[in-house]
Amino acid sequence: MAMDKKRLDQFKKRLEDRQVELRRVVSNRQQDGRNQGEDIAQDIADKAASSYNKEFLFSQSNNDRQLLNMVDGALARLREGTFGECVSCGKEINAKRLEAVPWTRHCIECQEKAEKGQLEAAR
Ligand SMILES: [Zn+2]
Repeated sequence: MAMDKKRLDQFKKRLEDRQVELRRVVSNRQQDGRNQGEDIAQDIADKAASSYNKEFLFSQSNNDRQLLNMVDGALARLREGTFGECVSCGKEINAKRLEAVPWTRHCIECQEKAEKGQLEAAR
């Protein structure tokens, strides 16, 4: 059962908005990371705090980047006409799940398997 165009357009809009937002966040954070490196604190306590911050910023930006990749992937599937299908088993992803997490790649069953490490590498 294919999704109607109107619904697809709504998802497209949401994903594109998200993509713009994430791109901004990711590039701002790269900037922050650089600034942080430039004013490395003189004193050890400051140094420790600053490296902690850097690590924090780094892990945050990794999450954002990962999310951005997933959003990019979802938009690519939208263009290919496979949006809303599980990339692993090809079944339709539950509508509510898709509504909540439009960039999701897996149906709930495959997601659970993936979390348990039982899923073979995604196509
Ligand atoms: Zn699946």
